[in-house]
Amino acid sequence: MNSHRRPDKLFWEDLWRREEAFRLSGKPELRHDTAFVAVSEIAGQFYCEYKVENKIAFGEIPTEAKDTGTELHDELIPQETISRDQFVELVERKKPSFAVLRVWGNVGGLRIIGMPDHMVWSQGRPLWLVELKTTKGDPNLLWPDQMTQIRIYALLLDLMGFDCSQLGLALVRLKTEGLSEEERRLWVKRVSDHLQSGKVGELEMRYKSLMKVHILSHDRAAAEASIMEKRGYWLGEREPTSSTSLGKCRACEYKSVCPRSLFSGP
Ligand code: SF4
Repeated sequence: MNSHRRPDKLFWEDLWRREEAFRLSGKPELRHDTAFVAVSEIAGQFYCEYKVENKIAFGEIPTEAKDTGTELHDELIPQETISRDQFVELVERKKPSFAVLRVWGNVGGLRIIGMPDHMVWSQGRPLWLVELKTTKGDPNLLWPDQMTQIRIYALLLDLMGFDCSQLGLALVRLKTEGLSEEERRLWVKRVSDHLQSGKVGELEMRYKSLMKVHILSHDRAAAEASIMEKRGYWLGEREPTSSTSLGKCRACEYKSVCPRSLFSGP
């Protein structure tokens, strides 16, 4: 459905059928016997490819920042599981509604999957993709891995057949400390409403220096190019690259086990 039509019953049936076929097509033929590559992993390659390699070799290493980020995510964007029928009923309303779905697609020889943080819909069309990134640093900074992640989500939505002609991308960088209980409770509704009304500046004023909403356009070519740049690692065509930044290695949870670490301190 790449025309600007509302999805109909046939579209949804076809979507669920294609999703099932995609799921069944997965074979462990990529690097590390991977069948499906997560969008977040491709994004992570833009930070340090060797970190992706270490994560697979040593597993996820918990850090305080990850734990705090996960807790805040759950609190700011509370979610409950709904059925496909409920999802369709919700997103087809004219009044903007909130619901996320798993995104998936084949790009550059990779079967890619992902789950966006938050989405706003109307009449079966995605209006906003919102990705929340918590930080202890400056919310005004925007990093290539974060930009890549939300752009690939949009690309996959487009490839799934949704009408993305009105889709905007909002990458929200938020300080982990300083939000009141009320601000946390109302956060997702406030962000969605301000995106809809185009008054993001007002929202940033309300949250002062705690939050920056980076608005990006849906750019298929940029998203595809980022996948093409990183696919060789998954296809086994080359070995992983590693960070050239001492600062990244110093802050990395794998620094004591990583053979490429630039940090030699304790
Ligand atoms: S220690 Fe440095 S090179 Fe190794 S995974 Fe971490 S950031 Fe990458």
